[in-house]
This record gives sequence, structure tokens and C-alpha cells, in this order.
Amino acid sequence: MNLIFELSKPGRASSLLPECDVPAAFPDERFCRAKAPNLPEVAEVDLDRHYNHLADEAFGVCDGFYPLGSCTMKYNPRINEEIATLPGFADIHPLQPASTVQGALETMALTCDLLAEITGMDAVTLQPAAGAHGEYTGLLLIRAYHKAAGDTARTTIIVPDSAHGTNPATASMAGFDTVNVPSNEQGGVDLDALRAAVGPDTAGLMLTNPNTLGLFDPNILEICAIVHEAGGLCYYDGANLNPIMGIVRPGDMGFDCVHLNLHKTFSTPHGGGGPGSGPVGCKEHLAAFLPTPVVEERDGAYVLVEPEHSIGRMKSFYGNFGVTVRALAYILALGKEGIPQAARTAVLNANYLMRKLEDLYTMPYPGPCMHEFVMDLGPLKEETGASALDVAKRFLDFGMHPPTMYFPLIVHEALMVEPTETESRETLDAAAEAFRAIWHEAHENAEALHSAPLTTRIGRPDEVQAARKPVVRWTPEEPERPAAQEGAE
Ligand SMILES: *Cc1c(COP(=O)(O)O)cnc(C)c1O
Repeated sequence: MNLIFELSKPGRASSLLPECDVPAAFPDERFCRAKAPNLPEVAEVDLDRHYNHLADEAFGVCDGFYPLGSCTMKYNPRINEEIATLPGFADIHPLQPASTVQGALETMALTCDLLAEITGMDAVTLQPAAGAHGEYTGLLLIRAYHKAAGDTARTTIIVPDSAHGTNPATASMAGFDTVNVPSNEQGGVDLDALRAAVGPDTAGLMLTNPNTLGLFDPNILEICAIVHEAGGLCYYDGANLNPIMGIVRPGDMGFDCVHLNLHKTFSTPHGGGGPGSGPVGCKEHLAAFLPTPVVEERDGAYVLVEPEHSIGRMKSFYGNFGVTVRALAYILALGKEGIPQAARTAVLNANYLMRKLEDLYTMPYPGPCMHEFVMDLGPLKEETGASALDVAKRFLDFGMHPPTMYFPLIVHEALMVEPTETESRETLDAAAEAFRAIWHEAHENAEALHSAPLTTRIGRPDEVQAARKPVVRWTPEEPERPAAQEGAE
């Protein structure tokens, strides 16, 4: 496929601008580039086709089953997109006086209230732009809390080995040392190891729950108690709230703060690097440290105020507002009955698919699972030579997106499958059939699986090259595209 630059022909254009009817004004010479930018010149029809072809090359939730564990690639109702683009939401400016955007502020305030209710927290900020950004915000709250109490010796954050990879990364970004705690045989936190890890240096614990094995930790109350007793605070990674929303609340389990991924659980399309949102909820004792500003209702009007000991701004303006609008539309549409129903269906779908596969594939943690489950392809690889990568790649030939591969790290040949609540029984059955067919192929001719997928335009890109030396820029001097570009799918 050609790049848009390669389609360019001098003089072609997609725009038809009216004659300029005001005096031309040029910026200071100092600010001008020396040479005109080398922009592609293409006709509208070619431009349109180019991007349509590109869209056809991509695989999204609207193309087929997308069980990418941990990422919650569920279907997002179209109406939420429409609501987010209503002019009252989309055509306002963040610098408008608060009195002219009362509806937008009310939208934010109501979303905060509902998220506080769903998580069992007292206050919420919508500022963080993603899950990991929410984690960072939460840890800054924890740091500010200890600092305000004069407790400067608390420099470590405890992270179980079943945590999402962003947790230890966030802890070190926030300036803490990370203490790793192993899992027990059931895939939960090893309580003895946790007891041994806490101490006067413990600032807090970050718990991903359900964890990356798709398991709800049955000892969660005790985990919280152990950390609190040592003087630490408890952070709940609630990026995957979809199996528990409306059923249990991190706040009731004893957690001090939590982040959610609106772009996973609450209906915003993601995966292409588009805007996300990772709101953070906290209990009363952390609320004074929240990022500024927060929305409050005072004398019948919504105003933006700065929390007393705010950690400052985490993002310009008020977070990704369009994502907030989608989340609010989703929560209000589902309501008190719909939210837990979605959670139950997420859990049901994952368990259904797991049961349909467990006679062939090894389930290292037999469950029941929450919204996702992890398969161990180690035994299949030993027996046939077909790896988790081979199975995942072959899955593409069935018109479905592969599961997450080689994560979590505590299962070496892991495939992590998250069907989500929006899939029908027929789709789950088709996925089970595909996995079963691949298992038989592995036993009959594992060699053939090594070259899967056979039906996609790009088969096996050099992922190492693509990650280490990505070619993301077109340079007119070298029209030849190097091999690594193929990898940068
Ligand atoms: C996705 C995810 C994150 C990170 O969220 P981003 O929006 O990608 O930063 C953190 N924790 C868990 C458990 C997740 O699944």
C-alpha cells in the first residue's frame, strides 16, 4: 500500500478555498520556516480512498471478536459518540467563563458523583488522561498525605507480582522504591510475604484487582488491613472495573483511592492511542490533595475551585471532557440495574469460554475467573512445538483478534482472554471452535502454525526491529521503505 506522500501529484488539491477578502497578514520573518513543508497533494477522492483502505487494514471491535485480555475491547454504543459530539459539549472552549458552560460543569459534577458512588469513594478528579496517569495521580496523593503528616520515612510502595505492569512503573515514577510481593498458589497475594514486606517505610500498596490472572483476591479485606496497620495507604487499580461494577466497591473494601479507565469500562473506543480518561476517586482524608480544579456546586451554580492542599494540575484544563460525556451517557443509560448486569455478563462470558476450552488447554488457575482468564500454552508447546505466539497468530485467520500474549509474566506461555460482556453466545462459540481447531492443528502439523497467519496482508512482522527502530517518518530522500517499516503495523 502506498503512503499518502507517494500518491502526491504537484498541483492536486482536496480543498477549494474562497478568494481571500481580508488583507493578508504575515507573521514575523523569524517565525517562518525557510522552505514550504512537503505536504502531500492529492485529490479528495484519492484522499478518501486512501484513508478508507487504511481503515480496512486495521482490525477493530466493529470487525470481529477482540478478546485482548486486560484491554476490555468491548463494543461501545454508537449513541454515546453522538452525544459527545452535541454542539453544547463539542463546541465550547475550556477558557470560557464558568457561567457560560454550566451544563458542561454539571456533566462533570454528575459524573464525579456517580463514579464516587460506583467506587465507594468521597471525591473524584477527572483530570488524568489514562489509567497509568491516574495511578500516578493517586500515588502523588498518597505521597502528599504522608508528607502533610510529617511522615517522610515512608518511601516504598508494595506491588504484588500479579499487578498490571504500569503499577511498578508508576511507583518508581512517583519517586518510590518498589517492593515486590509474590503470589500464592491460588494466584492471590501471599499474605505471609505481605506481612513480611510492610513496615515503617511502607507508603502504600498498589493492588490490581481483579489481578492480571483474572482473579478476585479473596483475602482483599485482610490485605487492606495489613497495610493500614503498618501505616500505609491502599491504592486500587480499578482499570478493569467491568466485572465488579455495581456489585462491590473498592471503598467498601477499605481502599483509600482508586482509578478507573473510562476508555475500558465506560464506553470510549480505544486502542488507536486516542483520548482516554483515568479518573481517580479517593476517601475524605485525601480529598484536600486532589488536582486543581475540582467542580463544586455553590449557591445553585457550578464553580471550579482549588482543593486546599492540591498537588497541582495533572493535565491542562479538565481532563478529556469528551470521554467524560461518553461515560456519563453510558452510566445513565445502563442505570442501577444495567451496570451490575453488564458486570455479571462479563464474568459469565469469560467463564463460559474458559469452560469450553479447559479440556484441551491448560488453565493454570482454574477459577472461576472474573472478566478474563489466562491459558498456559507451555504444555502444548512442549508436546507439539506450537507456542502461544503461533496460536495467537493463527487466530487471526479465523477473522478474530488474538488474545493478549505473554502477559502476565508469571505464566510463561500465557494467552490472556477477555471476551467482554458485549459478545453473544454465538460469537463465544465461534471463538471456542477456533481455539479448538487450532489445538488440533498443533497436534497434526505444528510446522504449518509457525507461518500463520496466512490470510492477512502482513504475517509476522519483525517486532523487535519495529519496537527498537521504528520508522515513523517519511523522508523524500529515501523513498525506499526499509524492512522495519513493515513491522511498524
Ligand atoms: C489498562 C490498564 C492500565 C493502564 O491503563 P492506560 O489507560 O493504558 O494507561 C493499568 N492497570 C490495569 C489493570 C489495566 O488493565
